[in-house]
Amino acid sequence: MPEYPKDCPLCQQPLSRIDLVGLWDGVRPDGGGGGIYEGRCDHCGVNLRMTTGKGAGNAWFASIAKKEWLLEKLQPPEIDTITTKLRRYETLFPKWMACLGVKRANDEIWRYRHPDRNVTGIAIVRDGEPIADFTTFSDL
Ligand SMILES: [Zn+2]
Repeated sequence: MPEYPKDCPLCQQPLSRIDLVGLWDGVRPDGGGGGIYEGRCDHCGVNLRMTTGKGAGNAWFASIAKKEWLLEKLQPPEIDTITTKLRRYETLFPKWMACLGVKRANDEIWRYRHPDRNVTGIAIVRDGEPIADFTTFSDL
């Protein structure tokens, strides 16, 4: 088992849960390939992801969105509009609600643009850092 961090990148406390959810490039005992992990920090109330192995980050991240990608802070009416729009989608809607569920009192909700996919998504931002994100096939 390769060494990797087991602490939350946001609060530096040990993660509450770490699960191996996948392998890439036919992982071998000699260190080829790597693992895809999901983690959970109950202290921060966020889910984290990490890819390990040669050339991978070997670091936990809470959100695909990066702070440099943030465009604008959303106001409650805009968030309600998105919620209404997504309500009819069986799989997206629960994911959207789960994303909103991460938000705490002082967190903000921002729109961001993914530079490669060129699609806008929504991020929950805590102390200037995206901690959860949500995207679909089209702009949000
Ligand atoms: Zn944490």
